[in-house]
Amino acid sequence: PHDLSRHDLDDILGTINDEARQRFGEGKVADYIPSLADVPADRFGMALALPDGTVHACGDARERFSIQSVSKVFTLTLALEAIGDDLWKRVDREPSGDPFNSLVQLEYEKGIPRNPFMNAGALVTADVVLSSFDDAEATLLDFMRARSGNPEVGSDDVVARSERKSGYRNVAMANFIRSYDNLHNDVQQVLDFYYLQCALRMDCVDLARSVQYLADAGRCASSGVQVTSAEGATRINSVMMTAGTYDAAGDFAYYVGLPAKSGVGGGIVAVVPHVMGLCVWSPALDEKGNSLLGRYALHRLTRMTGLSVF
Ligand code: GLU
Repeated sequence: PHDLSRHDLDDILGTINDEARQRFGEGKVADYIPSLADVPADRFGMALALPDGTVHACGDARERFSIQSVSKVFTLTLALEAIGDDLWKRVDREPSGDPFNSLVQLEYEKGIPRNPFMNAGALVTADVVLSSFDDAEATLLDFMRARSGNPEVGSDDVVARSERKSGYRNVAMANFIRSYDNLHNDVQQVLDFYYLQCALRMDCVDLARSVQYLADAGRCASSGVQVTSAEGATRINSVMMTAGTYDAAGDFAYYVGLPAKSGVGGGIVAVVPHVMGLCVWSPALDEKGNSLLGRYALHRLTRMTGLSVF
């Protein structure tokens, strides 16, 4: 295991924060819905959450943002806890190499999405969560509040409504998967749950705490709860490593070397197994949809600390 005492984490975060701010202006904020397009690009925050409950943070780490696809980590956890390995009969766990909203593989793979982090796979995962809990929305909200230790975490209705209005591709995808009988709930209900999860608003500190269980064999420091088994945490981390950053997972493994999950709101969560959960946020994205400065910051962090899993 890594010896964190060799590093001054606040000092490292301070350096990364300064460097990132000098790069404001690169990349482009997501603009497919107005509430994301309106987010100022010149924001940068980062937070690290350790298993003892300590948090180190810098910059705009307490500014809330739309977590978008980062939510797929948590619905995957809920689905795996609910139905175990049966999940893998309905969604694969292979990297895709295609954009997150791609439909192409679905036809020749007969409605089985490539992985739970592409939209198609997240829709199947959402369907499993809907079937597994009486009130799936409340279950997800409770889960996020307990993981983050923040009872105020909620979903932004304005974002969820615009997702619904502009989600033509997700509608097509859900119906296509339904045609292969791989969605069991009403299609609109699945989509609405998916939009609610994408519209969760959290900050870097909330999210670093929320993924910390993946860095401590499934144990959540905020709540003291064993969220998943040690094996469950290892497996979720492995899917994040191979499929968590859209079609740039290879590049992330190469430059960052940590399991990570990004979202088009500019957030990226990452895990240093057995060491810490972390989150970085900066709204401007690169051409693959990952936060440009988020990726830069994670690269700098693993370079400065040697904390890459490789
Ligand atoms: N709500 C977005 C969509 O379904 C999520 C995109 C993302 O963060 O990857 O298109």
